[in-house]
Amino acid sequence: MKMKLHSRREFIKTTALAAASVSFAGTLASRVRAAEPDRKIGFALAGLGRLSTYQLAPALHKTKYCRLTGIVTGHPAEAEEWKAQYHISDKNIYNYDNMEKMADNPDIDVVYIVTPNALHAEHSIKAAKAGKHVLCEKPMEVSVKKCQQIIDACKRAGRQLAIGYRLHFEPNNLECVRLAREKVFGDLKMIEAGFGFPIGDPTQWRLKRDLAGGGPLMDVGIYALQATRYLTGEEPLLVSAIETVTDPVKFKEVEESIVWQTKFPSGVITHCSSTYNFPGLNYFKAYAKKGWFELNPAYSYSGIQGQRSDRQEIHLPEIDQFAAEMDDFAQCILNHQPTKVPGEEGLRDVKIMMAIYEAARTGKTVSLA
Ligand code: NAD
Repeated sequence: MKMKLHSRREFIKTTALAAASVSFAGTLASRVRAAEPDRKIGFALAGLGRLSTYQLAPALHKTKYCRLTGIVTGHPAEAEEWKAQYHISDKNIYNYDNMEKMADNPDIDVVYIVTPNALHAEHSIKAAKAGKHVLCEKPMEVSVKKCQQIIDACKRAGRQLAIGYRLHFEPNNLECVRLAREKVFGDLKMIEAGFGFPIGDPTQWRLKRDLAGGGPLMDVGIYALQATRYLTGEEPLLVSAIETVTDPVKFKEVEESIVWQTKFPSGVITHCSSTYNFPGLNYFKAYAKKGWFELNPAYSYSGIQGQRSDRQEIHLPEIDQFAAEMDDFAQCILNHQPTKVPGEEGLRDVKIMMAIYEAARTGKTVSLA
C-alpha cells in the first residue's frame, strides 16, 4: 500500500512540477556528473527484435546519461550485425545462457529486457543475479507470481528495477494527469479508453499463450488500463469483462478482442477495450463534472494529441519517450533515487489483467478489494 501511494504520488509530482522537476533533476545530475564527469550508464539490450532495433537502439543515442554497451541475443549473425553497427566489443556480447558472466563486466550497468513476455522473469533474474540493474518491458510477466520473483531477485541483489512504461514520461499524458488531479474540469466521473491494432503474422509469439500470456489485453490493452489508473490515481475495486473470437484459426490461444469495465474507490467507472482485429483504437476520454478531455491518439510513439471540452487543444512538444524513460532510470541509478515506474507498478497491472481474464472466463464481476 505504501509503495502504491508512493508511485502514484511520484507520477502526479512529475506532472504538476514538470518544469521544476526538470531543473531539479538537472541539478542532481550535474552534482553526480561533477563527481564522475564522464559517467554514463551502460545499457545492454536483451532481445534484439523490433522494439530494440527500431526504437531502443536509436533512442539510446539520443540519451544524455546512457550508452549502448552490450547485447544479449540467441543469434550469432544478429550479434555480428549489431557489433558492426553499434561498435559493441566482443566481450560485451552475451547469449541467454551465459548472462551470469556479465557479473565481471563493468561496462554494463543495466540490462533492458526486451524478450517475449513469458521470458521476462528468466532474463531479469539472470541479470539481477549478475549484479545488474533491470529495466523490464511491459507487461512485466504473465503471472503475479513471476512478477514477484523479479521483484525479489532485484531486491536480493540490491539492484534497481523499473518497468518500461514510457507514457509516464510523455508530456501530453502527463498534462492529462494534471487536468485530472487539479480537477480543472471538476471531479472525474467516467473514463473510456482503448488501444488495439490488426495483428499480422499468425505464427508470431504474440498469438501463443505460453509466450504472450494472453492477447491484446496483455500487449496493448495494458496502456488503456494504465491510463485509467494514472488519471484516477487509484486502484480498481471491481472488474467485469467480455471477450470475443471471430477467427478461431488465428486466435486459437488468445483473445481477439476484449472489453472490460472497472469501478474505482472514488466512484469513477471505466469502459475499456483492446483488439488484435481492427485499426483505429488508440484513445482515452475522461469525463468530469464540468467537462471532458481526451487524447487521440493517446499511446503512440509520436503524434499524441487531444482536445478539451473548453475547445483548447492538448498538443505539447513531442519527445523520444524511450530516451526519456532510459535517461530517467539512469538518473535514478546515478543519484540513488527510486524510480516512479517500479516493479510493483508492473505487478499491479498484471494482477488486474488476471482479474479481467477471470471475469471474462466466468462471466462474473471480480473483486480486487
Ligand atoms: P520481437 O518478436 O520483435 O522481439 C523479441 C526478441 O526476443 C527477438 O530478438 C527474439 O529473438 C528474442 N527471443 C528470445 N527468446 C525467444 C523465444 N523463445 N521466442 C521468441 N523470441 C525470442 O518482439 P518485440 O516487439 O520487440 O517485443 C519484445 C517485448 O517488448 C515484449 O515484452 C513487448 O510487450 C515489449 N514491447 C514494448 C513496447 C513499448 O512501447 N514499450 C513496444 C513493443 C514491444
